[in-house]
Amino acid sequence: MEISEYLVIPWPDRTLLIASGNPHKHDEICRELSLAEGLLLRPSDVESKLASAAPDPLEDGETLLENAIIKATAFSLWSGLPALADDTGLMVDALDGAPGVHAARFAGENATFQDNVDKLLKQLGDLPQQQRGAEFRCVLALCDGDQVILTVEEKCSGSIALEPRGKDGFGYDPVFVPANNTLTFAELTASQKDGISHRGRAVRRFAGLYNELGTAEGFR
Ligand code: IMP
Repeated sequence: MEISEYLVIPWPDRTLLIASGNPHKHDEICRELSLAEGLLLRPSDVESKLASAAPDPLEDGETLLENAIIKATAFSLWSGLPALADDTGLMVDALDGAPGVHAARFAGENATFQDNVDKLLKQLGDLPQQQRGAEFRCVLALCDGDQVILTVEEKCSGSIALEPRGKDGFGYDPVFVPANNTLTFAELTASQKDGISHRGRAVRRFAGLYNELGTAEGFR
């Protein structure tokens, strides 16, 4: 299909652009949304058809909600498609809520996943497991142009492991142990993580609202 066709696709076709270049987030969202893969586009799908690069908006909001809306709006205005953005934060009790909203830049502007995990473990030192409580929070925002269509927020509580474990997942997964578990997110299978994670919960709630929207008047 040519981009010129799907850029003007009306709402009933339900094409959504995932406003993230992070392939892990894209996969997790696709799995839980249960939409055909072709209806969930990556920025690169659109980029290759348009004469402009995907936006890289400054995430300077003070909340996850503000940043999710900043991303979804920028990607929707760029593509002409409804765009769904995810903004996630990791709040660690012993660090007064840090890394928080700025979890991606915890160890600096161009920090890698490893840099962020290393800094987190260093700051927690040898605090015992029961004092390493933490929570992932995930906000999803669906925007159509500069109009906010719907937003949801979900969380997953747990704790930070003493050292990284597991090889799956991304970001802080190797050090996040969800509540009532002994394994980290990176040691769980993808579907086990989806079943309990902040993003899995948020996407499932979003999916219910999104399906109701599909029959609503006045949107696309
Ligand atoms: P952002 O939502 O892309 O800004 O993500 C914030 C930070 O949290 C980044 O460092 C991500 O790698 C990390 N992150 C987001 N979601 C997850 C997750 O599900 N597991 C582990 N780390 C995550």
